[in-house]
Amino acid sequence: MPSASPHRSGAGTPGPRAQDVRRPAANPMRIDLRELGRRAGAMQELDRTVPAPHDWRVEMIGVPPEAQAHLRLRLESVMEGVLVSGRAEVPVAGTCARCLEPFEDTLELDIQELYAYAGSTTEATSEEDEVRRIDGDFLDLEPLLRDTVVLNLPLAPVCSEDCAGLCVDCGQRLDDLPADHSHEVVDARWAGLAQKFSTTPASSPGTPGEIPTTEEN
Ligand SMILES: [Zn+2]
Ligand SMILES: [Zn+2]
Repeated sequence: MPSASPHRSGAGTPGPRAQDVRRPAANPMRIDLRELGRRAGAMQELDRTVPAPHDWRVEMIGVPPEAQAHLRLRLESVMEGVLVSGRAEVPVAGTCARCLEPFEDTLELDIQELYAYAGSTTEATSEEDEVRRIDGDFLDLEPLLRDTVVLNLPLAPVCSEDCAGLCVDCGQRLDDLPADHSHEVVDARWAGLAQKFSTTPASSPGTPGEIPTTEEN
């Protein structure tokens, strides 16, 4: 799916079938704006579940395969373009940076973005990468959602805020171990002493020794 250049995607061959080609069914994140219209103040609610691309990810966490993102957005026609606002819920799966266990979560994202009309002042006065643009009658939500998801993915994700990580001695996950988990490591240098004090004294001064006398005659 080459979505790097947002322009030019709708430019198919003109002809009697052009209307069919433009149907947005192929890409549910590409929004047809003809229903909303251009009258400033017009509004449209969008409640839609869309497949979330697998490449919305950073190193240790991202959208799992076959995931669905839930979008609840409002499209508002303004002078310069269309204001998109609302929320997106995106399932993510990652590996805990502390205990290395896989875990799943849902990102809840606030969305607010202006898409500018071609020829609008906003479009004319901003750089190519500063403002999102409306492509003919369509608005592509995918780059906006991708940027928002990726910006909100943690570089060091944790399975839970208080994940205790791994035991430095045995490498097991501390949350799976009993609270009193510990390793009694006796330093080799003390091992000899410990033995000396815990076993029966080898010599006890003070008691007159019974010197075995051997009388042999
Ligand atoms: Zn963890
Ligand atoms: Zn341990």
